[in-house]
Amino acid sequence: MATEIKYDAVISDIDGVVYKEDVPIWENIEGLKLLQSRGVEISFLTNNASTDKEELTKRLTGIGINIDESKITTSGEAAAYYIEKNYGKAKVYVIGERGLIKELRKRGIEIVSDDEIADFVVIGLDRSVNYEKLSNAVKKIMEGAKIIVTNMDRLWPSSKGFKIGAGALAKAITYSTGKEPEVVVGKPEKWILNLAINKLRKRNYVLIIGDQLETDIALGVRNGLDTLLVLTGISNVEDASKSIYKPKYINRNILEFLGSGARI
Ligand SMILES: [Mg+2]
Repeated sequence: MATEIKYDAVISDIDGVVYKEDVPIWENIEGLKLLQSRGVEISFLTNNASTDKEELTKRLTGIGINIDESKITTSGEAAAYYIEKNYGKAKVYVIGERGLIKELRKRGIEIVSDDEIADFVVIGLDRSVNYEKLSNAVKKIMEGAKIIVTNMDRLWPSSKGFKIGAGALAKAITYSTGKEPEVVVGKPEKWILNLAINKLRKRNYVLIIGDQLETDIALGVRNGLDTLLVLTGISNVEDASKSIYKPKYINRNILEFLGSGARI
């Protein structure tokens, strides 16, 4: 059995690790709680901007994970932070859900309607997007708005199987306009990692946990952090064997990882 604590903090993904859509993944939730009970600082970093941090905190506490809002980082928050830091006030047209809009408004960013001019089009996962809305975004970009993308995820794991991610929506828009995003703020980009790391009390030995090679594992590998791939979401063992991003550990779930003799 594993006894030695090696890592002092964990940055965990949410979709595909804690939840499949709304269905809790208990083997990982229990694993995270066990880590907390051993004194490991738990934090979350998600590319999913559709739920705001306040709501996420409620959901996570509701399934027994003791977490403060200040330990959660979302790509929605990162997009808002990016705009505020680099441009101050701005007018934004959003392809995205309530959580993204809320994070943008929190930083004083104005959300514009279909008929108004925008400085930016911010693209996140939008499960009720339609042809008109995508066309409106394209029009605004043609008129000069810059593109900001919360994440380039191809897929996300719903309770009924894979569904298309924010990256696929972004691709539709960049293909139509011929314009590339000014920035993609989500994983595996370094600066969203910095946003998450700066929220940790202890950051000497950080373990990244996630279900996707091209986001979670790439984030860790590119930045010299250890990674655990759990097989509860998108990527499988075969994907890992083909990927240029090799996780340090691969386990079916976090509980298995903790029981596998890993030094944590
Ligand atoms: Mg995930």
